[in-house]
Amino acid sequence: MRQALIFDADDTLWENNILFERVVDDFIAWLAHPVFDYAEIRRIFVEVEEANIAAHGYGSRVFLRSLADCFARLMERPVGAAERARMDEFTAVFTSGQVELVPAVADVLEELGERHDLYLMTKGEPTEQQRKIDASGLVDHFAAVDIVPTKKPETYRQLIGERRLDPARTWMIGNSPKSDIIAARAAGLRAVFIPNPYTWAHEHAELDPADDGILHLTTFAELTTHF
Ligand SMILES: [Mg+2]
Repeated sequence: MRQALIFDADDTLWENNILFERVVDDFIAWLAHPVFDYAEIRRIFVEVEEANIAAHGYGSRVFLRSLADCFARLMERPVGAAERARMDEFTAVFTSGQVELVPAVADVLEELGERHDLYLMTKGEPTEQQRKIDASGLVDHFAAVDIVPTKKPETYRQLIGERRLDPARTWMIGNSPKSDIIAARAAGLRAVFIPNPYTWAHEHAELDPADDGILHLTTFAELTTHF
């Protein structure tokens, strides 16, 4: 039977968080802090980032702000002009106009599109998400693309209503336990969890192992054996 498959984008269709992880690593190495070690700086960064996300939302601009705030907190002084320029170099990767697709994504979407209706739903800063969608070359596979500020149960209910989808035949496919799986399940959708080893720390959550509305896969390519 024909299903509606809604795909997450970052870290499901293309690599995303690994780019941020690499920047944080470069930042920590460059900082060469005399007291705090790698793990402590990582922990402090996540704390600073969490507060900034709550206040300013998602996106690479907020990420850059978090790097600067983390710097100020660790060095007990604001970022200087030359240091700011160096930090901009770290983050140039976010405006490169390229994305690195997860293996088999284009072929799998091509095949699934013959049997099902495909949708894309990504959360984040609109310009930034649109840039990645354009760079991916995948847009023609989808009946509709939605860029949303957050993925809560209400976000899914609204999408189901707008697209006139039947929750019993609608699946959310993604790497984030919190945003893609738990929130979609709460809205009555079924879900496919495909973990990405570089999933963002803020997206981690425990999934209920007894929930048979969640399909657990290890690779994107496996989707064609289930749909
Ligand atoms: Mg994701």
